[in-house]
Amino acid sequence: MAARPLGDSYGGYRSRLVEQLRLQGIRDLAVLRAVGGTPRHLFVPAAVRHQAYEDIALPIGSGQTISQPSTQARFLEALALTGTERALEIGTGSGYQTALLSMLVREVVSVERVPTLAAAARQALETAGVTRTSVVVGDGSLGWSPSAPYDAIVVAAAGPDIPSPLVAQLADGGRMILPLDRDGSQEVWRVTRRGGEVVRQRMGDARFVPLIGKYGFDPGNR
Ligand code: SAH
Repeated sequence: MAARPLGDSYGGYRSRLVEQLRLQGIRDLAVLRAVGGTPRHLFVPAAVRHQAYEDIALPIGSGQTISQPSTQARFLEALALTGTERALEIGTGSGYQTALLSMLVREVVSVERVPTLAAAARQALETAGVTRTSVVVGDGSLGWSPSAPYDAIVVAAAGPDIPSPLVAQLADGGRMILPLDRDGSQEVWRVTRRGGEVVRQRMGDARFVPLIGKYGFDPGNR
């Protein structure tokens, strides 16, 4: 685990956010520790920095948002991570969830389609001292085959259906969590691969920006 900028003036706010997540039912101690140890204020624009530790989504530019911490915590909890996984994230955005993941797994590859967001995320991850993580630019609805297979995949944007390349890049025993947009209403799904079998479970509702790509939505329609 990378050294964290301890002693920054946001420590109290972070603890309060962790407490809120606990009250909302997040039980996975590793996830709570990751939130408690990750400087979210480094991943949001200066104009909204004072709101960095509120449990809300915030604008990060290019029409995108950093998701609500409780949503991210629920996604990460649903992956039941043990610390040994190789993980793929689709939709780096600000890089905050990438930073959380880096504290929960062995290695993270994160794919972002907007180059300026990927560059800002890389910068923020470096400032936060996050290691064992690479941010690449591309259409994440295709996954990222050079580093496949993955034990865990988290998708931070909602497509119309489960992208088949992502299922194909799941390792045996691997878990994927993703939001789907079904005619405007969003659902969260968990996909688990066990040998040749792929199990899909519906987990709840969500609100995410669209997944734009070959196995996502057409950019012209969004
Ligand atoms: N988890 C992020 C929030 C991401 S918002 C955070 O913590 O900040 C969703 C992101 O998915 C946006 O940055 C958007 O540009 C990106 N995205 C949308 N479609 C994509 C695709 N096909 N491949 C990669 N990234 C995509």
